[in-house]
Amino acid sequence: MTVLRAGGATDIGLVRANNQDSLLSADSVSLFAVADGMGGHAAGEVASETAVNALKAAWAAAGGRGPEALVEAAREANREVWRTAQATPGLRGMGTTLVAVALTGEGDSEELAVVHVGDSRVYLLRGGELEQLTVDHSLVAELVAEGKLPADEAEFHPQRHVLTRALGVDAEVPVDLVTVTPFRGDRLLLCSDGLIREVSDAQVASILRRLADPSEAAKELVAEARLRGGNDNITVLIVDVVDDGDKAAKASAALAAEPGLVFPPDLGTDAGDTTALPAVPAAPNRLQRRREARLAASGGRPKARLVTVRVVGFFVLLVLILVAAAAGLGWYARSTYYVSVAGGQLTVYKGRPGGVLWFKPTVAERTGVTTTQVEARHLQELQAGVQESSLGAARSYVSNLTQEYAAAQGASSPTTSTTSTPATVPTTTTTPQASTTAPAPTTGPPASPAG
Ligand code: MG
Repeated sequence: MTVLRAGGATDIGLVRANNQDSLLSADSVSLFAVADGMGGHAAGEVASETAVNALKAAWAAAGGRGPEALVEAAREANREVWRTAQATPGLRGMGTTLVAVALTGEGDSEELAVVHVGDSRVYLLRGGELEQLTVDHSLVAELVAEGKLPADEAEFHPQRHVLTRALGVDAEVPVDLVTVTPFRGDRLLLCSDGLIREVSDAQVASILRRLADPSEAAKELVAEARLRGGNDNITVLIVDVVDDGDKAAKASAALAAEPGLVFPPDLGTDAGDTTALPAVPAAPNRLQRRREARLAASGGRPKARLVTVRVVGFFVLLVLILVAAAAGLGWYARSTYYVSVAGGQLTVYKGRPGGVLWFKPTVAERTGVTTTQVEARHLQELQAGVQESSLGAARSYVSNLTQEYAAAQGASSPTTSTTSTPATVPTTTTTPQASTTAPAPTTGPPASPAG
């Protein structure tokens, strides 16, 4: 179960005649709000006070406790300010901003709902990092969003106070909603523009990191805004998530269990500035939000992922490489022919003499030419195997050997006939193809081509 602790401060500032900001911290219904009123005389004060009171009443009366109920409560607050303004002549034209945070849902589905109208803001400090959750409903903010005004010029724009949305101006107003899964150590800051215009985001973040107590931090922020000018009313409300029902620990464990992911180990424990904060498990940062969402969708229990996509991809690639290597090796082993001797007969083999790994040579052709029909000086290299690039080349080589032998026999003994050429050796081939690429071993047993 989520437990919140809040602390706030509001101040008139150094220039204004009255404080038109209102602050609501209702722990009993886990509802927190800041409103910044505007209007002549006391109208601004009435507008902001009416808004937070109506919000609280509508929230307390709401049937459901979902984020939409908070949106509806804000709409009801708008109607109440609008009705009051219409009913009271001196209050016509009054209006107010509103930012509100409420704890919604139950159990593991608890969420912080953030609604806003106008230019008051809500920030989230998580893991030492400050993030603005709301987008101002103001003319300059819209110009900046549309790229028509540089962000650094917005601060000095003459129309920087002009709002595009406020409560009480019309009978109905659109309300923006953001939801945040609460993790222990999270710190929400609600504030009026009197803080933002005086104190930079970096300075705000520094104070939020340094002071653990929400009331002390709120007072320090107000004091800082006064120190830097105090040109407007300043209101600050800080809401800390002091317990989350072990959600942060579960999320951290789930993330740690996920292979292939490395997050900064010092996340949320930024040394120095955070020493004053109580030690809490590091809550996920922005990068991890989607994982939180997935985790929440699976009922909060981390799913054991035995095989990730990356691991599968690696093994598929490895198998492809091995198949390609085997195919290449097979091609190399089987791409050539050689002539050797088997059973006293010259034989053409497909493959390499002796084979390559498990690729053994096979008999391509028995030539019918015996060792007695070739010059004796060729026998040793034939025993080792004479390589040829193709079956045709191997046949030519054999043919050349028989022709050479026949010529030698004809020269020494004209009466001996050697006209019987084996049918398998084409006699039309005339290109000499005798190989010189296979030097024969001078000692040792001849390589056995039989495999
Ligand atoms: Mg203001």
